[in-house]
Amino acid sequence: MQKQIYLDNAATTAVLPEVLDAMLPYFTEQFGNPSSLYSIGSTAKDAITDARERLAAHINANATEIYFTGSGSEADNWALKATMEAYSDKGRHLVTSAIEHHAILHTAEWLEKNGYEVTYLPVDADGLVSPDDLRAAIRPDTTLVSVMMANNEIGTIQPIFELAAIAHEHGALFHTDAVQVLGHIAIDVALMGIDMLSAAAHKLHGPKGVGFLYIRKGIKTRSFIHGGGQENKRRAGTENVAGIIGMAAALDIAMANLDARAAADLALRDDLIARVLAEVPYSRLNGHRSLRLPNNANFSFEFVEGESLLLALDQLGIIASTGSACASGSLDPSHVLLAIGLPHEIAHGSLRLTVGDETTTDDIDYTIESIKQVLERLRSMSPLYEDFLQGKKPISAVK
Ligand SMILES: *Cc1c(COP(=O)(O)O)cnc(C)c1O
Repeated sequence: MQKQIYLDNAATTAVLPEVLDAMLPYFTEQFGNPSSLYSIGSTAKDAITDARERLAAHINANATEIYFTGSGSEADNWALKATMEAYSDKGRHLVTSAIEHHAILHTAEWLEKNGYEVTYLPVDADGLVSPDDLRAAIRPDTTLVSVMMANNEIGTIQPIFELAAIAHEHGALFHTDAVQVLGHIAIDVALMGIDMLSAAAHKLHGPKGVGFLYIRKGIKTRSFIHGGGQENKRRAGTENVAGIIGMAAALDIAMANLDARAAADLALRDDLIARVLAEVPYSRLNGHRSLRLPNNANFSFEFVEGESLLLALDQLGIIASTGSACASGSLDPSHVLLAIGLPHEIAHGSLRLTVGDETTTDDIDYTIESIKQVLERLRSMSPLYEDFLQGKKPISAVK
């Protein structure tokens, strides 16, 4: 079998064997409904209670502040929609950033169509939101500020302490999408001044289809799903028991080895970044050089299409991601890459590589050699590159 090097850990991760083992009994012997009074029901209920306490402790929250959801996207939807509605007496203005995940951006657009106003903060060339821009954007009727803790495409980590403090100075609440951060960098919601936080299990070796929203005690929110009394009557539906158990198990494991894993990821990432920039002509790094997720590298390569690059690498067994999504046949460059100021043609030639626990230095060597080989081939077929070599077209000065 051809070797496979998975460098798309920001998209999703494999469930760890220990996590699967923790989950399995809740599909079979312990299948009871946590709302039932008989013993297999209460076993499931106790397991959920225990999972909620452990998850809460890992972010320095209280168990009563953790609300399980069906995904990170659901947590984002809930945080924005229900909070904006619950505080609509105070105002109807939301502040967010231009580089949020679509779970935030498309929810914000929905809010705009439903009588709310949204300000999208720009970012600088490294993908950072400026605290001064937030200060200038907040108004007396701003009820919520939502800025992601770290970006899923370019890895840039935002100045969350400062942004949360500014929101609070002006009487607004602060939500953060921490889906890329949980289990990778330590989070302390109390210390950081976070009122609401979204998380998902599948980005940290937990199962897909489960996440949570942290809602600080005292914050008004509305039920997101109406029905039974689950999640303190705010999110009805029989709990995803095995998923919740798996999420807690995954976070326990991630937190037990946090520093060692982050250091290992960071060493691989830095090696990758240094060598690509040194060895691949007309390449650039997207995102902040140091304020970035330990596992994230994102490059743009001139004179190539991200899709062609991705497919060629796939043939060599390397699984990565590109900044442009081929939606219904038309290529849309990533909103994140456009927001950091990349011209369309450069945004199109981008590649995200996210390392994981199983990535080795040999994988990195092989990946760099493959990128060089593929780029050479693709560029040799590019009329733009041909023109450039003949001096007919100037380089877009990406560096
Ligand atoms: C993956 C991701 C989400 C969505 O989480 P799902 O559980 O896949 O819905 C939201 N925000 C960020 C930053 C993500 O990386």
